[in-house]
Amino acid sequence: TPRSSAELIKSEAPVLAHNYHPLPVVIARAEGVWVEDVEGRRYLDMLAGYSALNFGHRHPDLIEAAHRQLDQLTLTSRAFHHDRLAGFAAGLAELTGLDMVLPMNTGAEAVESGVKVARKWAYDVKGIPADQATVIVASGNFHGRTTTIISFSDDDTARAGFGPFTPGFRVVPYNDIPALEAAIDSTTAAVLIEPIQGEAGVRIPDDGYLTAVRDLTRRENCLLIADEIQSGLGRTGRTLAMDHESVTPDILLLGKALGGGIVPVSAVVARREVMSVLGPGQHGSTFGGNPLAAAVGSAVIDLLATGEFQARAAELGKVLRAGLEDLSTHGVTGFRTRGLWAGIDIDPSLGTGRTLCERLLQEGILVKDTHGSTIRMAPPLTITREELEGALAGLRRALA
Ligand code: PLP
Repeated sequence: TPRSSAELIKSEAPVLAHNYHPLPVVIARAEGVWVEDVEGRRYLDMLAGYSALNFGHRHPDLIEAAHRQLDQLTLTSRAFHHDRLAGFAAGLAELTGLDMVLPMNTGAEAVESGVKVARKWAYDVKGIPADQATVIVASGNFHGRTTTIISFSDDDTARAGFGPFTPGFRVVPYNDIPALEAAIDSTTAAVLIEPIQGEAGVRIPDDGYLTAVRDLTRRENCLLIADEIQSGLGRTGRTLAMDHESVTPDILLLGKALGGGIVPVSAVVARREVMSVLGPGQHGSTFGGNPLAAAVGSAVIDLLATGEFQARAAELGKVLRAGLEDLSTHGVTGFRTRGLWAGIDIDPSLGTGRTLCERLLQEGILVKDTHGSTIRMAPPLTITREELEGALAGLRRALA
């Protein structure tokens, strides 16, 4: 007999780690921007898997690519070549304007792998003495959950109880060029930043910041690593958030939407001189670059090559921004948007971000709070103008 949402939620507690606090909805089906719970109630998905679902749920081209590949070949390991990997890597290099690809699976793995590449470059090319390399990161960062990555987080909840931490990282204030300049020294291998900080509440740096970071890292002979795992692949109205300032990093980290919401796919994409520091046996992943991942990833690249999704994000981003401006007298105390991506600060007297998300759930709209009274909206880029306006109307009701 089918079990109710309430029963399913209750039965998770004794058998599932409590490292999340999900909203009380149990999703059973989805298509495009709509999901349906086990009782058949429909919700508009305004989170889109933290941008892993930029093309919506089960985009027909991506599902077709996955089905086709499932019928041919799913896994070889990298002990052997397979016939889908070259095309995937070439497509990703062309899409990003970089040269070589290191395929991985999750975002955190891409970050870890990018840090390893940067350290190896620092020793082999820059000539930093052994084990002295440092990577500079920004305050408020979110790059994932592994032991090394939480070592350079400044979020107490993410860190407390998980030490000892990995050395070799330095935290400077985000959006602060003088602080970054002061922190760079002869041990600096790389500067790792999110061009827009998603988890921090869609924090957008000042115009010119990314250009200045690029100029500074070039002048100081250290690498620029851009974590576009959440900001990349169409979300901001351009293929990459760095494109807004026409800045190309030395190392680009991608994930989330690269797997089309079907399989975990991430990648480190880099300039040839940088990625060439890796030799056989020095890094790897059993599933990284597997045929199913490569087929879906290639289909994602084909969608982005049309430019259609970037254009939709830019166009509908104006609707999102205008809608939020209208709410500034209705409980929205501040907001930041770029493309179809918004961090929205709610008047704390109206409740926490969490309570607002619960009210939005009642309105049939799925969103997630980030910190305190900030919520984030990041719908699939396939959303229509009417659906987006519906979400904004729902937000207005939830704030009332
Ligand atoms: N980097 C950024 C900017 C992210 O937003 C995330 C996930 O939210 C990650 C890295 C980690 O990705 P994953 O959860 O796939 O490990």
